[in-house]
Amino acid sequence: MPRVNDHFAKLKAGYLFPEIGRRVRGFQADNSDAPIIKLGIGDVTEPLAPAITSAMKAAVDEMGERATFHGYGPERGYGFLIDAIRQHDYASRGVDIADDEIFVSDGSKCDSGNVQELFAADATIAVTDPVYPVYVDSNVMAGRTGAADENGRYTGIVYLPATEENKFAPAPSDKADVVYLCSPNNPTGTVATADYLETWVDWANAHDALIIFDAAYEAFIRDDSLPHSIYEIDGARTCAIEMRSYSKRAGFTGVRCAFMVVPKELEGKTSSGDTVSFNAMWNRRHSTKFNGASYLVQRGAAAVYSEEGLQQTNAQVDFYMENARLLREGLGAAGFTCYGGEHAPYIWLKTREGTGSWEFFDQLLRTCHIVGTPGAGFGPSGEGFFRLSAFNSRDNVTEAIERIKKAYG
Ligand code: PLP
Repeated sequence: MPRVNDHFAKLKAGYLFPEIGRRVRGFQADNSDAPIIKLGIGDVTEPLAPAITSAMKAAVDEMGERATFHGYGPERGYGFLIDAIRQHDYASRGVDIADDEIFVSDGSKCDSGNVQELFAADATIAVTDPVYPVYVDSNVMAGRTGAADENGRYTGIVYLPATEENKFAPAPSDKADVVYLCSPNNPTGTVATADYLETWVDWANAHDALIIFDAAYEAFIRDDSLPHSIYEIDGARTCAIEMRSYSKRAGFTGVRCAFMVVPKELEGKTSSGDTVSFNAMWNRRHSTKFNGASYLVQRGAAAVYSEEGLQQTNAQVDFYMENARLLREGLGAAGFTCYGGEHAPYIWLKTREGTGSWEFFDQLLRTCHIVGTPGAGFGPSGEGFFRLSAFNSRDNVTEAIERIKKAYG
């Protein structure tokens, strides 16, 4: 039999969402009439905006004509999309990003899983805990960790607990070579301030460390004085890679488009001490393993930046954020302590005294027929917390709040 990558065996078997699915199916088998409301997985519920569908339909028509057909496109992405990103996402906030620093992809999940190919095999990775699981699992698969302990923590990874005490904003650790930061945060729903990001950027530059900044939920930031990009912080161009996605911002979870920014000032060192450019490395990696996001999808993504596209997609984000506000207020009225939901589509609810995350999951499913996500599934520091997502219809959100108030209020 062929030999396999032994590191896969270290991955924990019961991945969060399959386990949630198993429990929901088990409940449904005995309660087939229960009207379940799912506020668990962070998937969008609103359809694509008309500006996007018409741009994609026009792109389909182009592809059906000899004169306007497109085969392989540029691996880094079409100029029309890169230019729109540069102007709308960065220049509009006073950030100068060059065209060849932007790499369009088919999703931030792939980007956040693939980026670790740039790090040394023995690089020490730091993550906040709780955390979006892809950062950890992709490094486990690559062999940068030992086995997981009984809490699910892998040896070799530096975990930075994000707790109520530190306002879910852990301080830098001197031990790490690479740190993954996510703001607005999944799962805690909290957002990084400029001062907080400055601490990290200063630390990274002083310690020759790299920050992977996941800004998949940037569009949900409601306060313009908060940073939308890590490059709004002085010094970030020499220490940070940024990821953005159209998934939540424009309903692209089923369409697939995202991008990564790798500044040209960002440098690393080989084992022999030579200086190398991360931008050149990522360009090599991207063009070797990726043939570009589809033309149709990139036309759809570019339409997000048109006048109607911005107006329509911003209205969708507003709609989800109104759901988040209703959830926060309703849960507060039912006596729960909640975090997040002000600049992110996630509410991080504190379970009541002594109730474990999975215990609360089962309780909420049984008593309210509501599915959420146990905080412990995102890391040991998520124990005692529960994530509720604002991605749903208004009717489902108001109904969910009524059920929770009735059961707990
Ligand atoms: N990063 C974070 C923090 C996420 O929560 C998600 C999706 O839920 C992603 C990345 C993945 O985004 P995409 O749909 O672009 O792959």
